[in-house]
Amino acid sequence: MKQDFKRLCDLIVADKLYETLDFKTKEYIWVREGKTWFSATELGREYDLFFSSRGKSLSERNNSKLRNRSNEPQVINQPPEASKGESFRRNKNQNIKPERICFVCGAKGEYFHFAKNCPRRFEKNSEEAKVNIFKVQEENRRQYNRRRRTAPIYKINDLVAIKRTQLGGGLKLKPKFLGPYKVIKIKPHDRYDVAKVGSHEGPAATSTSADHMKPWSDAVVP
Ligand SMILES: [Zn+2]
Repeated sequence: MKQDFKRLCDLIVADKLYETLDFKTKEYIWVREGKTWFSATELGREYDLFFSSRGKSLSERNNSKLRNRSNEPQVINQPPEASKGESFRRNKNQNIKPERICFVCGAKGEYFHFAKNCPRRFEKNSEEAKVNIFKVQEENRRQYNRRRRTAPIYKINDLVAIKRTQLGGGLKLKPKFLGPYKVIKIKPHDRYDVAKVGSHEGPAATSTSADHMKPWSDAVVP
């Protein structure tokens, strides 16, 4: 319980931090977060890394944006020890630049070029690159929608169907959704713990996200 409360505080802090970021940084964080959720500390680390890679230091960033926020003095007036650790980490991270790679041919380092300029972009396997780019965009969109929504989609005890996650031999003929499941816990960012109701195929209990769920009444499960 105490653990849960701490986690909740962490999420609130992370969300507040997140709101101070500019669009490019948010976009970067979306991609980096993927399906997980960054704590305030992790968010800070990613943010720092991203700014280092864009040739700006965290202190520069603080000066320009955070100094005027008089309601959050704790961001700037860190205890000396903490800021010491912070600057050590920043210096360390400044040497780590995320390597840019051409989506199409994989060229990097001195051979790097953007995919749109790739000499091989019209070859067959550039289809794979399109899929990769699409996946990143799709993930951005999903994260964006997830951030924007405040109320949970499902309530405790709602009956839902969950998307089958394992694919494999002969499954094409089987239903894509399993259920009914009952929502037993609402978690941040549209994640839910669900438990099986009755006896049917699928795990007894699992954790899933709203984009892998639908209301049981909408589900067509033979
Ligand atoms: Zn290329």
